[in-house]
Amino acid sequence: MLVKRPGWVPFLTCKCPKCATGRVFNNRLISVKFAETRYSCPSCSFSFEPEPGFFYGAMYFSYALMVGLIVTGCIIFYVIGKFDYAIVGIPIAIVIMVPLIFRYSRMMMLYIVYPLMYKDKFYGKP
Ligand SMILES: [Zn+2]
Repeated sequence: MLVKRPGWVPFLTCKCPKCATGRVFNNRLISVKFAETRYSCPSCSFSFEPEPGFFYGAMYFSYALMVGLIVTGCIIFYVIGKFDYAIVGIPIAIVIMVPLIFRYSRMMMLYIVYPLMYKDKFYGKP
């Protein structure tokens, strides 16, 4: 049975993977408390954390995104011929991108891992 799932727009705007309307995070991206994740969706009450420590797995996605950022930065600095500036430019880019990487690694956990590992909780029991 094919189940319709939300597309890219709810993922990029950090909306609930089930109903695509409720916000996953409490605060705005540019905030001191950018990391506060809700326990459940405010509109459909879908639980974002199927078990305690579910979001520890987001570290793997965060690592992959960070490596991608570093490799991309190295390539860009090499192509423009200013590779010496990479030692300063890439850490600055990492510090700026930390909230984005944190949030999208959690969103990847919700959109990729949750439906694969917790089918009963995500799709409901047949
Ligand atoms: Zn929802």
